[in-house]
Parts: sequence; C-alpha cells; structure tokens
Amino acid sequence: MPTNQALKDYHARRDFGRTSEPAGGERRPASQPIFVVQKHDASTLHYDLRLEVDGVLKSWAVPKGPSTDPRVKRLAVPTEDHPLEYADFEGVIPAGEYGAGPVLVWDTGPYRNLRAEKAGAPAVSMAQAIAEGKVEVRLEGYKLKGGYALIRTGKGDDARWLLIKMRDDEADARRNPTSTAPQSVLTGRTLEEIAAEGEE
Ligand code: MN
Repeated sequence: MPTNQALKDYHARRDFGRTSEPAGGERRPASQPIFVVQKHDASTLHYDLRLEVDGVLKSWAVPKGPSTDPRVKRLAVPTEDHPLEYADFEGVIPAGEYGAGPVLVWDTGPYRNLRAEKAGAPAVSMAQAIAEGKVEVRLEGYKLKGGYALIRTGKGDDARWLLIKMRDDEADARRNPTSTAPQSVLTGRTLEEIAAEGEE
C-alpha cells in the first residue's frame, strides 16, 4: 500500500471537500498491474498516461496523446503520482480546483514490464526503469496495444520524456485512435457529454 508520503503532492493540490476525485489509499493492487490513459480538458486538452507501479499510478501528461505510429515521438511531461482509485475516475473537476475540467477514461487495461522479461538481460523493475528514464511496456488496452517506450532524453532542466510506439505487430501508422475513438471506454461518453452532465 502506498504511504501518505507517496501521495503527498497529489493530496497537497486537492480539496476533497470540493473535487470528486478519489483521495485514494484504499485499493489494493490487482495481480496484474494496469495502465490508464485519461483524456482531460483542463487549461489545455491533454492525455494523462498512468502506469501502476508499487501501489501508485506513475503519471505523465501527453499533450497530443499516444500515437500508434512508431515514427512519432510524443512529449510526455511527468506529473505527480496518483492513487490507484484514480484509474476509473471520470467526471468534472470543479472550476477553481487543480486541473479543473472534464476527465474521461480514454483507454485502460493490463500492462507488462518488457524490461523485466528480456532474454539475456537482467530483469529491471518498473521503479528502476523510471529512475533510468527507459521504460518499455506492453499495453493490453481496448485502443492501445503492444509495446510503448517512455524515454527520458537530456539532463537537468533540459530533460524531456518522450512516448514512442515500439515497432511490433500492433504498430500502425494509419491508425489515429485519438481522433477516431474519442469516447470513454468505461461509459462511451465524450468529454463534451461529461462536461454537460457535470454542469447540471
Ligand atoms: Mn491531467
């Protein structure tokens, strides 16, 4: 279970008397770790990629969202760890609160840490892979499948994380799921529908 310390930044940014986001700390990890991509229209539209690691959701904001084309590199900006309960949060963060705006679960499913199962190489844990800035995972989502790499390039203030589709059978330069499949995989709703319901 994550300690309160692990979610310190998450808690410091939110007033749980106002936002319907989960405070977290109750859910136990399932047998297989999960990923989630949440579409979030805050001050700007972006996609939040979250990977379950050691009882929390390690998180990156991806302004343009994931691509299925291995030639495309998408900027991914690290954000604070989120509680496991956040994986199925969908709704509207109220005006004036941190991240105000509608959120939907754009994709989710189990993932595998490919660096833990490479033949002839020592197994690298997800925590270690993140510390090294070289994450390789295989996603089993509804929209996203196959290998994705999260790579940190540059140093210090110039450090940047990039999200890149790995070259495998699921790579497809012609698919564009962020535009062809915009709805929630949990409820089928669009961000506009969630925003409208939140204002009732
Ligand atoms: Mn966000």
